[in-house]
Amino acid sequence: MYHCTVMKSLVLPVWSVLWWFSHHCCCSLIRLVAFASSMLGCPNFLSNIFFPYSSASTYCILADPGLRTPYHSILWKLKVPPKVRIFLWLVLLDRILTQQNLMLRNWPSISECKCCSTDCLETSVHLFITCDFAKQIWTLVRSRFNLPPLSAPPDLLTFWTSNRTVNSGNWDVIWAASIWAIWKERNRRVFSSCSLPPTMLMAEICATIEAWKRIL
Ligand SMILES: [Zn+2]
Repeated sequence: MYHCTVMKSLVLPVWSVLWWFSHHCCCSLIRLVAFASSMLGCPNFLSNIFFPYSSASTYCILADPGLRTPYHSILWKLKVPPKVRIFLWLVLLDRILTQQNLMLRNWPSISECKCCSTDCLETSVHLFITCDFAKQIWTLVRSRFNLPPLSAPPDLLTFWTSNRTVNSGNWDVIWAASIWAIWKERNRRVFSSCSLPPTMLMAEICATIEAWKRIL
């Protein structure tokens, strides 16, 4: 009986200490591991081992000012689903797993672009801007939404921001849906060995934008 009472009296303090530790130290620990991974040249390596994906770990990393993009605050207010915002953030930091980034991590990869079927190295800029397939998509997008000529600078952040001229909120969603659609099409070709032609992908982009407008 005495032991039982002692045990009960210890449970609450111990639980409180554990809660305090997890609440105050977890984010710092996650950031420390992310930093150590970056120093090793493999930004996600240690994080993936110690902290598999969770919404809490993702939030802690996103809240780190050291990992912010110049348009961080605008990015997180885009009227697109949260998973798309996270994806776009990774795109702007060039952390998505393109063939180039896979090669940098010494992962098995192929040195060709599945979207244009050439031996061009699949970088983020190639995949979303300079690839012939991407160019076709942006031409269709520009025509469909009556956009002014799009500049094609050498990085994705400038591509997004330099084309934020008139009606930037509208362009932001069009840009997000197009980048998202190109990435899904890339994955369709890499992992499912099937593909959509540019016109069908354009229809998918329009449907995605309409769906986002309804739910967001
Ligand atoms: Zn290509």
